[in-house]
Amino acid sequence: MTTWRLALRGADVLAFDTHGPGHDRGSSAGESRIFRTAYKEGAGYVPLLQRAGALWRELEDRSGSTLLTMCGGLTIGAPDHPDILAVRRCAEEAGLDHEVLSTDQARKRFPQHEIDDGEVMVLDPGAGVLRPEPCVQAALRCAENSGARLLPHHPVTDVTETDTGWRITSNGTEFDADHVVFAPGPWARQLAPLRDLPVAARLITAYWFAARDVAAHSPQALPIAIRRHPEAGFSCFPALDGVAIKIVPHHLGWPDLDGPDDLPRSSPPDHARAASAAAARLLPGVVPHPIRIGTFAEGFTPDDHALLGPLPGHHRATVMTGFSGHGFKLAPAFGEIGADLALDGGTSHDIAPLDPNRLLP
Ligand SMILES: Cc1cc2nc3c(=O)[nH]c(=O)nc-3n(C[C@H](O)[C@H](O)[C@H](O)COP(=O)(O)OP(=O)(O)OC[C@H]3O[C@@H](n4cnc5c(N)ncnc54)[C@H](O)[C@@H]3O)c2cc1C
Repeated sequence: MTTWRLALRGADVLAFDTHGPGHDRGSSAGESRIFRTAYKEGAGYVPLLQRAGALWRELEDRSGSTLLTMCGGLTIGAPDHPDILAVRRCAEEAGLDHEVLSTDQARKRFPQHEIDDGEVMVLDPGAGVLRPEPCVQAALRCAENSGARLLPHHPVTDVTETDTGWRITSNGTEFDADHVVFAPGPWARQLAPLRDLPVAARLITAYWFAARDVAAHSPQALPIAIRRHPEAGFSCFPALDGVAIKIVPHHLGWPDLDGPDDLPRSSPPDHARAASAAAARLLPGVVPHPIRIGTFAEGFTPDDHALLGPLPGHHRATVMTGFSGHGFKLAPAFGEIGADLALDGGTSHDIAPLDPNRLLP
């Protein structure tokens, strides 16, 4: 996204990636990502989320792709669950449209979810589902159309600050740059200038369950959801492939990986059993045995907020990493900020809360 925004502004951009555009080895794959505006992570994010929403639409227009479907979003749980309270607080503070559905209303409108007595839903109409692989490909296609040079299958093996900028080594060739934007996702600590950043590579597993009635589980009928229940917690995505909904269990934790390249291909049977139990208990319209399992790496920080800003201790470098499981929806806004920082040395967006210095000694 930074490559796209830099190229649009006329910069001379080289974009390195170990893999190809839209690959499934890092954090930005797996068919679907949640977009939300009433943000339990805090009302401070709302201006960035609104800007990201506008930029997703701009990317759709420029690329001719469908990327974001505004199917709405539900937070489901007990009325006093911290996430229910947080999403309501954000909507109220930011003046966002939202609806609180009582137990009866929730059962009637969204029978795809099993609702216990007393549970409620908060409906955010400013939520939807993004398709991450086409999103990445669309941004890179637009970047290339604006003159960026893409270097897929180019792992950066060395990056060293010089008197005038940076020297980058990839596939045995050296490249010189005035400014580097580091956006390596969970690989952050493998690059020498980022070695001291507190970014842990963790495993997130996604499960797909076949819907018995696909129409009732399509984005036209089923919003994205964040489910909070004493027995399970997960994010839930409508069926985009005409077959299966996806859940990402939260209650089972996200274990540390030795490194992002150590992704297991599948999940251990006890993890899969627990995901199936969650589906059997809370999603009555699916066959509760996964037909597909996806494993992905993501970079987490100690406070679960990204590191975004000038790279501490260096000149002419920007870092954006550690998105902690919620960075995709904001990606084009982060890309715009990356371009601002690289070209102007500052940005009009409020990124002070994401300053990497907050987590450094
Ligand atoms: C399963 C899962 C579900 C998620 N759900 C949501 C959601 O619903 N909504 C949401 O907003 N967010 C969600 N997130 C988080 C979001 O997807 C991530 O925060 C976001 O995709 C991070 O993007 P990134 O560009 O930092 O990392 P990546 O997408 O991993 O990109 C980093 C890139 O850097 C490249 N790279 C790294 N090191 C080098 C090197 N040395 N040389 C060259 N290239 C290198 C990698 O190959 C990779 O392409 C989820 C994450 C996961 C894993």
